[in-house]
Amino acid sequence: MAPFELLIATRNEGKIAELREAFASVPVALRLLREFRNISEVEEVGETYQGNATLKATSYSRQTGITALADDSGLEVDALHGGPGVLSARFGGDNLSERERTEALLASLQKIGPTTRTARFNCCMVLYGALPLAETELSAPRVLAVTEGICEGSLALEPSGSEGFGFDPIFIPNGYDVPFAALDQVIKRKVSHRFRAAQRMRQKLELYLGPHLTAGRSAS
Ligand code: IMP
Repeated sequence: MAPFELLIATRNEGKIAELREAFASVPVALRLLREFRNISEVEEVGETYQGNATLKATSYSRQTGITALADDSGLEVDALHGGPGVLSARFGGDNLSERERTEALLASLQKIGPTTRTARFNCCMVLYGALPLAETELSAPRVLAVTEGICEGSLALEPSGSEGFGFDPIFIPNGYDVPFAALDQVIKRKVSHRFRAAQRMRQKLELYLGPHLTAGRSAS
């Protein structure tokens, strides 16, 4: 039986590395968007993480014909009343580099002291596509599963570290004293919001696919 194919519906290399590790033990063949030509990008116009993740999973699955896993995530800062949240990727304006965006966030927290800089990363993951019913039969495509993962922490006063992406240089997960970007990436992947959402998704996938899971290969 051919391995079940699963599209990792993101072009963010940091996310791809994290998801590849989270799904390493699942015998599915991971496919990446860069393997396909003429894929239209999906605009993240949803008002919630789940809305955006559903838009991405649905569109990329329809465009490639493969069951797709998409995530949407954001940083929720208590001193900003939960912002920037779903707008994290656009915080500070369009066309900023990740470093400039991080600086803009730090600037907006200038008056907030070290003990009140609590924040969390939130991630929603959506699986959209068709399930194998029998050897050659597939179910009608639909949203198959939705999972969530949260990582609590606080924001540093200045950036440090060179690993990861996005706000990693300033987000210190609870239980550690340096930000994600200065942590061993094996640790980041194990405590991150994305890994937690992916763990729950992995369980659902194993349940759904059950006997259809065969030894697969990972995309390189
Ligand atoms: P999206 O999920 O691609 O829409 O990304 C939302 C934004 O949240 C990203 O552009 C990052 O700025 C931030 N973000 C989400 N997850 C992480 C993470 O694991 N590390 C650092 N920043 C993150």
